[in-house]
Amino acid sequence: MTGERQYTNRCACGWEVTGSEDEVVDATIDHGRRIHNMEATREQVLAALHAPPSAVGEDRPDVGAA
Ligand SMILES: [Zn+2]
Repeated sequence: MTGERQYTNRCACGWEVTGSEDEVVDATIDHGRRIHNMEATREQVLAALHAPPSAVGEDRPDVGAA
């Protein structure tokens, strides 16, 4: 038993990676560079990886529209 957690990260383009935290971070940075010409830091990838999924895509009712 290694006790190592598995993480999955999915990109908006449909690309997906699953592995240990280190593997996912490295693969995500590499993917961003090659495919999207984007330079992501380890901290940015980790933040996205640990962000709660409920923080995105929440419906907002229109308030105050006359
Ligand atoms: Zn992508």
